[in-house]
Amino acid sequence: AEAALIQSEKLAAVGRLASSISHEINNPLEAITNLLYLIDLSADLPENTREYLHTAQGELSRVCQIATQTLRFHRQAVRATQVNAADLVDAVLNLYQGRLANSHINVEANYETSTTILCFENDIRQVLNNLIANAIDAMRGSGGRLIVRAHDATNFLTDSAEPRHGIRITIADTGHGMSPAVKARLFEPFYTTKDLNGTGLGLWISAGIVTRHQGKLTYRSSEHPVHHGTIFSLFLPWTEVDSPGSA
Ligand code: ADP
Repeated sequence: AEAALIQSEKLAAVGRLASSISHEINNPLEAITNLLYLIDLSADLPENTREYLHTAQGELSRVCQIATQTLRFHRQAVRATQVNAADLVDAVLNLYQGRLANSHINVEANYETSTTILCFENDIRQVLNNLIANAIDAMRGSGGRLIVRAHDATNFLTDSAEPRHGIRITIADTGHGMSPAVKARLFEPFYTTKDLNGTGLGLWISAGIVTRHQGKLTYRSSEHPVHHGTIFSLFLPWTEVDSPGSA
């Protein structure tokens, strides 16, 4: 447990550093984005110059994406509010209707809770976004099933003797699953198997948010040719949440 604590302190320090760096570079990045846009508007560019320009814009937008994701994670606190868990899950899921249909993914949603939890709503939304987007990515090209559930739950996996009551949200996919090598690293910042389409920040940020809510994020995953697919399980307790930055 101590090693895990040191590790989480290290990650928190890295997070603060990353966030102050992204804050500093955000304005110049925006300036560069605007300038490149203006250059692109000019009609008389040699063809290969315009090609270089577009490549630069593509790379730049990736840097911007990383900077804003990191910033959003460490931005200053909003208040925790009481949120109906099933409504929240459903609202996030609805945002993906188009992508799910295009990817030939059948959705089964099952909400057996009317519980409200005290949480930082936007942060929990971000966690759900990340988990659902990852599930869709894992089924890209093949289609499959996305099973989303929310129910009241008790968590016994704590150091304290007292079981904790709260809600559990599970997001399961029938995608390609994860190899042991991926499992060993998936919560590391910048670890991605998606090349330029991923930032590798999603699960790292999600784990930080869940910890701040004194919750738990676990998963099981298996690869072809067995039952392939992944299930992420998010437990959020009823207890008070820490304010962002204090974790
Ligand atoms: P990103 O999605 O940008 O790659 P994440 O931190 O969200 O970053 O995920 C890290 C890696 O974990 C992914 O690149 C992928 O290899 C793996 N992963 C996450 N969720 C799933 C899933 N549902 N199925 C298979 N692999 C997954």
